[in-house]
Amino acid sequence: MYGKGRAWLELDLNHLNHNVAQFQAILPPGCELMPAVKADAYGHGAGPVCRALQKTGVHNFCVASVEEGIKLRKEGIRGQILILGYTHPALFAAVQEYDLTQTVVDLEYAEVLNDFGGRRRCRMKAHVGVDTGMHRLGERSTDVEKILEMWSLSSLDIRGVFSHLCVSDGTTEEETAFTKEQIRKYDTLIRALHLAGISGFKTHLQGSYGILNYPELHYDYARPGIALYGVLSSSGDSVRCAADLKPVLSLKTRIECVHGLHTGEALGYGLTFTAKREMKTAVISVGYADGIPRCLSNRGYALVRGKKAPIIGRICMDQMFLDVTEIPEAVPGDEVVLIGSSGAEKLSAARVAAWSDTITNELLSRLGARLQRLPVEAADPEEMVHDMTR
Ligand SMILES: *Cc1c(COP(=O)(O)O)cnc(C)c1O
Repeated sequence: MYGKGRAWLELDLNHLNHNVAQFQAILPPGCELMPAVKADAYGHGAGPVCRALQKTGVHNFCVASVEEGIKLRKEGIRGQILILGYTHPALFAAVQEYDLTQTVVDLEYAEVLNDFGGRRRCRMKAHVGVDTGMHRLGERSTDVEKILEMWSLSSLDIRGVFSHLCVSDGTTEEETAFTKEQIRKYDTLIRALHLAGISGFKTHLQGSYGILNYPELHYDYARPGIALYGVLSSSGDSVRCAADLKPVLSLKTRIECVHGLHTGEALGYGLTFTAKREMKTAVISVGYADGIPRCLSNRGYALVRGKKAPIIGRICMDQMFLDVTEIPEAVPGDEVVLIGSSGAEKLSAARVAAWSDTITNELLSRLGARLQRLPVEAADPEEMVHDMTR
């Protein structure tokens, strides 16, 4: 680990702690956070993020796959790790070995998981996923008989029942009505389970927008993802409950070299950018293999020395070009900010996502493995770099 070399992510763990406190203040007493740390904690780096969360007292986590769960255990993460998605039965041994909790995606799957537990003479920890309108995972919440049957499977240790909201980010009358119907269906199922004498399981329904738009709901857990990292999915989103969220991640790289480009000369693959005047250009060491969307070619800007430097030419795999004509002081080795702040200028993930015709969730979760993840908590970031090698 050589620190701030080619291109890196700085993680402001104080901001993460701040966001955790914001959510804890919004959620009703007794409701625990179960953060979504899938996709390497939305690109931030699951290791540093989960260790920081664990320090604040968080002890439930959601991942997407067995591999992600194993990685967390190897990082020393204790507590409950729920795999939100499908796990192929060939990997059930790993689920058990690493003490992960599996989502049951329907009754048939519950039976297969139960059979595995029976053969191993152990009870497999599970949460039951139920469908309340998204039609992704789970038996329909109205198929109470089928869902109830899961409790007759003696090698399953069912610890939770959850569903997922699919338009909780929307605040139109129609979207609100749909979400309220999902909530009603979920509550109806939970009541039916209790009436059938089943208890001792945890309830959870809300992701980031479910919390920020429906803060009055009261379940055992809440599963924020994107907003815990301090950003909303789109810059245009407004939420009912105004939380003070602070972005955790900055994406930075360096200028490799600075060139002159004469009027009429073109640059990069496909020669898609032509200089209309005498220009100064910078080549920077980050590209689409690092997660910079290729559609940012000739679109948007980065920050150099507190000033805007427009992106020009096609994004390459490992490099890209900036127009630094208006920043004559720019030199090789200078820090370049693609997400974050430089001087008085701020460049949000939401703005970069908008330029890329996507949402912050996709932009951040695709940030590449080649980027170094540097937690910045101490006053001297370089010190943290040494810290990470231990
Ligand atoms: C990804 C995910 C979340 C977190 O969603 P955000 O919108 O990022 O907060 C919560 N629950 C489930 C089931 C998910 O797949």
